[in-house]
Amino acid sequence: MIDKPIETVMRQSKRDILIPADLVATVNEDNNLQHAFLVLTKVKYAKIPVLDNNNHFKGLISLSMITEQMLLDTGITTRPLDSMKIKEIMQKDVPTIYERENLEVILRHLVNENFIPYVDHDNKFLGIITRRELFKEINFLAHNFSKRYVALPVYHEKTMSQSAAQ
Ligand code: AMP
Repeated sequence: MIDKPIETVMRQSKRDILIPADLVATVNEDNNLQHAFLVLTKVKYAKIPVLDNNNHFKGLISLSMITEQMLLDTGITTRPLDSMKIKEIMQKDVPTIYERENLEVILRHLVNENFIPYVDHDNKFLGIITRRELFKEINFLAHNFSKRYVALPVYHEKTMSQSAAQ
């Protein structure tokens, strides 16, 4: 459990940690690898979400997943770029969240991932929460905690018993 005062101060920040879907670079699962290759190269993000025609979240695609398909024993081929679809190689086992208020779950996921997709109960893609946005919240907390709470040190048990004996 996140300590209540910490959560309270983080929630007082006016910033929204969600990057909404319309600002997120995405590709369609039925696009070929060439399309994903071009988008990833242009946007310069390591990994981006993959959606279906109805905006459901389906997975993630990265440049390295694509270049992996281009490797031959004898060199490199661009043939898979035309012939393969994104859904054939995308990462499918992706954790998502649908409770954006649950800071505890968000924190836990962002320990391991650079970002976490946010979806509704029907798995429709609503946006992403990134480590960068969360760090901005932690920065807010670090600079504002003492304006809202008085933090007192908790004495170690040994220190407490020593002072009791005096
Ligand atoms: P950041 O914390 O801003 O470096 O973002 C972490 C990761 O989230 C990036 O490497 C991308 O994989 C993803 N990401 C962040 N912003 C976007 C965006 N606008 N569109 C697509 N992916 C994004």
